[in-house]
Amino acid sequence: MKNKIWLSSPHMGGTEQKFVNEAFETNWIAPLGPHVDNFELDLATYTKTKHAAALSSGTAAIHLALIMLGVKRGDEVICQTMTFSASANPITYLGATPVFVDSEKETWNMCPKLLNSAIQDRIAKGKKPKAIIPVHLYGMPAQMDKIMAVANIYGIPVIEDAAEALGSKINGKAMGSYGNMGVLSFNGNKIITTSGGGALLSNNNEYITQARFLATQARDEAPHYQHSQIGYNYRMSNIAAGIGRGQMEVLDAHVELRRQNFETYKKEFAPIEGITLLAEPKGYFSNRWLSTILIDPVFANGVTKEDVICALLVENIECRPLWKPMHLQPVFDKSPFYGDGTSENLFNNGLCLPSGSNLKKEEIKRVCTIIKNTFANTTKSINDLAELV
Ligand SMILES: *Cc1c(COP(=O)(O)O)cnc(C)c1O
Repeated sequence: MKNKIWLSSPHMGGTEQKFVNEAFETNWIAPLGPHVDNFELDLATYTKTKHAAALSSGTAAIHLALIMLGVKRGDEVICQTMTFSASANPITYLGATPVFVDSEKETWNMCPKLLNSAIQDRIAKGKKPKAIIPVHLYGMPAQMDKIMAVANIYGIPVIEDAAEALGSKINGKAMGSYGNMGVLSFNGNKIITTSGGGALLSNNNEYITQARFLATQARDEAPHYQHSQIGYNYRMSNIAAGIGRGQMEVLDAHVELRRQNFETYKKEFAPIEGITLLAEPKGYFSNRWLSTILIDPVFANGVTKEDVICALLVENIECRPLWKPMHLQPVFDKSPFYGDGTSENLFNNGLCLPSGSNLKKEEIKRVCTIIKNTFANTTKSINDLAELV
């Protein structure tokens, strides 16, 4: 069996272990401690937001953000349909209903126009949505200026799901700093990892103070254990935060490596008419967390995304379709959806390619060769077919 090539695997920079050892030496083996405080500072400084709370996951961060916005049973929350289920799941934890909105073609993220019509229609039907959750898929920033403008017209707060977009920015402004609150994830496959973890960002200190309170079982200030609210156990451990501090030192370098992966794919696939890659709109900077391709059925000579996935799997290379839109998921089939087919089209024709910052040049070349051969062979077989006829 050939060496496995992963989509996106953890990539340590070297100093993570030093921070973890420090936690052991000082016996800060706890869900709080100096690494947590410093990691929070690192995140706030990097994203130029005023405050950050380190949490156990990105999902926990979305859950707490929704609670703080007062989302309750029977409420509606607007969510980008093209995303990982973790963007939408916390809406249902609260007994609220997700309302899904389709993507635009420029960034593959929430379409501001469809967002506007969705809000108008929900209001006309008697319910104003309580929050909006746009996502920066694969690191590509959503059209945040337009999304915030629509949200502000109706006074609806925005929870910016930047789980895939640490290091991405628009005109130098970091993703995660646009919404009323921003969400990051440090899961094992993300741009940096703490082995599992997340964070909530905000310029509003009340949100972050409240998030820390709720994340540590909502303990009132009293010598005994007293609670006047339901709490959660959602804080990040001092060990995990130590890994995070080390990862922050290499974040920009790793973003650069992922962007180089993308450039290699772009160059290698340039001669293939059936493959397109997503360009950055002017002023946009993507961390290129995952490099993705779209297969255009008109120019692909019959090659489908399944053909490419199979060809790579046989060679022990991980490759995945784009996120299956939430409005197509059995679990969300009763949720309202506002769309024009964009995300379905992306899902039908798109693929995520190996994108880790730790991939070797030869490994990327191996991926490119297999994909190029898949396209070359099909062209040939179609020609053979023509000769037979
Ligand atoms: C990974 C991810 C999350 C969830 O983060 P976890 O830390 O895994 O809970 C949320 N939204 C998106 C878009 C993600 O990719």
